[in-house]
Amino acid sequence: MKLTIHRGTHEIGGNCVELCLNSGETRIVIDVGMPLVTSDGLPFEWRHYKNLSQEQLLEQKLLPAIDGLYSYQQPSISAVILSHAHQDHYGFFRFIHPDIPIYMSPGTKSLVEVSNLFLNTEVNLNQTQTFTMRQPFQVGEFTITPYLMDHSAPDAAAFLIEADGQRLFYTGDFRGHGRKKVLLERLFKEPISDIDCLIMEGTLLGRGEGQYQDEKAVEQAMCNIIAGQQSYTFVFCSSQNLDRLVSIYRAIKRSHKTLVIDLYTAFIMDKLSSISPHIPQFNWKEIHVLYTYSHAKKLAEYDKKLLYKYKKTKIEWEEIQAAPKNMVILSKDNSYFRRILLPKLGASSGAKAIYSMWHGYLERTNLAQFLKSHDIELTEIHTSGHAYAEDLKKLADAMNPRCLIPIHTFYPDQYGDIYKEIVQLDDGQTYCL
Ligand SMILES: [Zn+2]
Repeated sequence: MKLTIHRGTHEIGGNCVELCLNSGETRIVIDVGMPLVTSDGLPFEWRHYKNLSQEQLLEQKLLPAIDGLYSYQQPSISAVILSHAHQDHYGFFRFIHPDIPIYMSPGTKSLVEVSNLFLNTEVNLNQTQTFTMRQPFQVGEFTITPYLMDHSAPDAAAFLIEADGQRLFYTGDFRGHGRKKVLLERLFKEPISDIDCLIMEGTLLGRGEGQYQDEKAVEQAMCNIIAGQQSYTFVFCSSQNLDRLVSIYRAIKRSHKTLVIDLYTAFIMDKLSSISPHIPQFNWKEIHVLYTYSHAKKLAEYDKKLLYKYKKTKIEWEEIQAAPKNMVILSKDNSYFRRILLPKLGASSGAKAIYSMWHGYLERTNLAQFLKSHDIELTEIHTSGHAYAEDLKKLADAMNPRCLIPIHTFYPDQYGDIYKEIVQLDDGQTYCL
């Protein structure tokens, strides 16, 4: 088997791995992500590039140079496989040739559908095939077995890939301190054996690990703030981070408060309800849905009936205004929050905000100053979606691969502390297993 990491050997984001049989006959691609940073290290903003053609994006080395992958080319890639629904793993799926089959988990597919509707991700899902965790499927001579992993995206997968008598394991993004941490513990106890090559993410290497150890600590810290609140609590978090929604839900339930979500979040919860009974739902008694015109319009495009379905737990502005101290409002840092939601709720002294996302995102906006100017106290409560160095080491030691290749990291040099046999590649370099 030959492998090429097109992006990700020296950066976090834009993950893309191509695998090819020794005969050259079958080629598959895992993840085609959008970068998170530019070559100058600045945040990557898609809106600056979205008017470029595919050829121009290739010329600027934004799209990976993979022959036969893109819609303007003659297709020659047998399949594309997606590990999970984060933009840095599927942001460029919009350019994949529509005849190429795309494989993903059911939960990932649901999130991609939601993002197509609300976030214009433009992924063509006509050729999508869904896989079942731990059930092998075949693409040409490649046998691929997905493994469910603990990550901030739900239904995230790692892949065991077998071909040419060799075995490769691609971890995707993972951690061991979320709501599904037993999954990693299981891999420590029952490691996948006889691995020739482990391609392992290392997001947290060389990076601060955050203040909170795990999702349980996040839940407790939220509870500590919410329980004693005498006014509104605004919680800023991604609605697609279902582990975090569970932590927030558990915190409001323990504090006897009401969680106010938007239609976008209600839709996500509903779409993903089949993957776990623990995912909070719009019709649970502590949860209410606040309708906005723009979300209602989008949802009606998809299925008008959903507007009636979610209406059962709709909450009106007056009900929120009548009981500020009971209201925990799931919020996004956008103009709707600043120009509509906050002014509509009116002055209520003592409102607090919880920022429950990566600190780097907060640094990119003036949300902290904005909240301060409105006398809203801000607290950051977050734990990473990625594994700690000690868990990376434990997984590498348990699997004992013949070599380990770093990916999804700014510090591949630090893998020397993780494992003995490291093969450090450059983007675009082909390696024969
Ligand atoms: Zn991810």
